[in-house]
Amino acid sequence: MNPPCFYVDIEKLRHNAAQIKKLCNQKGIEVMGVIKGVCAFLPVVRAMLEGGIGKLGDSRIKNIVRLRNAGIRDPIYLLRLPMLSEVEEVVLHCDGSLNSEVGSIKALSEAAKAVGKTHKILLMVELGDLREGIMPHHVMKVMEEIVGLPSIEVEGLGTNFGCYGGVLASFANTKILVDLSREIEETFGLRLKTLSGGNSSTIPLMLQGDLAPGINQYRIGEGILLGRDPSSLKPLPGTYQDAFVLEAEVIEIKTKPSAPSGEVGLNVHGDAPRFQDRGPRVRAIAALGTQDGIVEGLRPRVEGVEILGASSDHLIMDITEADGIEVGSTLAFDMEYRALMSFSASPYVAKSPM
Ligand SMILES: *Cc1c(COP(=O)(O)O)cnc(C)c1O
Repeated sequence: MNPPCFYVDIEKLRHNAAQIKKLCNQKGIEVMGVIKGVCAFLPVVRAMLEGGIGKLGDSRIKNIVRLRNAGIRDPIYLLRLPMLSEVEEVVLHCDGSLNSEVGSIKALSEAAKAVGKTHKILLMVELGDLREGIMPHHVMKVMEEIVGLPSIEVEGLGTNFGCYGGVLASFANTKILVDLSREIEETFGLRLKTLSGGNSSTIPLMLQGDLAPGINQYRIGEGILLGRDPSSLKPLPGTYQDAFVLEAEVIEIKTKPSAPSGEVGLNVHGDAPRFQDRGPRVRAIAALGTQDGIVEGLRPRVEGVEILGASSDHLIMDITEADGIEVGSTLAFDMEYRALMSFSASPYVAKSPM
């Protein structure tokens, strides 16, 4: 494959999936494997399934339809709240979805009824992170409105931590979800099978044994793909952090001053950049830029390579302290989650198993 491209070590991913599943199962937690971070790239999805993950989640119906067309029959949930304009596709291709709007759930009910299916929903509850979710004191009211809907199974409750607000899960906030589920079960005489209490950033709480008893599902992306807790960027026990590698090709190497010369205005990103004058430095440019993905999330694997910045098409690096790099060399980078997510969506970046 010509650069830019990225490679996936399927063995390592399969291992990560099995390891995260083991850690979670030991604490009574089922894992939904979240695949949006790689745009549901099929070899990665297969690796998760082979690692023992039995349920998948993605935020985009287009990815899910592609997986169904590729023959994936395992349960898949839509993670992003469904748009009213996509409910027909959602009930056709997804076993369930995450929801917080009564109107959307009613629309899902109609759509599911029309095709003779039952659609499962996890009601999302807002517990401080301020992304999607019903305020806790409104949950019973929402339940009243949806409990009798045909073709909808309220499978359980869900919540999100560490996403928008960066709020960490705790015993106290996960207990709110458990208490709400008990109240629902008693009031409406039903059993909620699933309490989906978090994502990768919630794994440390589980490992410490401080999760409220009753939480029985995590939706995990980054923890499997990159083996990290996103809230601290610390590695998770027994996982690989380097299952993915991005390669870019060097197209220029020159010694240049480290500060620009001439009158300075705004740069290509609309910023007024500042530079430290370190004297003349050896610089390399790789054919990779902000149009390909979020370059701020790249970490060079080669010692001595420092990323200085990027334009839409050029990644500019200081390689004064690095050896053996020439025009035509490919440089390898680790990707943080935001980089993985963006580069895997780029039509300019090819993806392949190793
Ligand atoms: C993306 C997403 C996840 C996965 O988050 P990670 O931090 O990658 O584990 C879980 N739940 C929802 C609703 C999501 O959108």
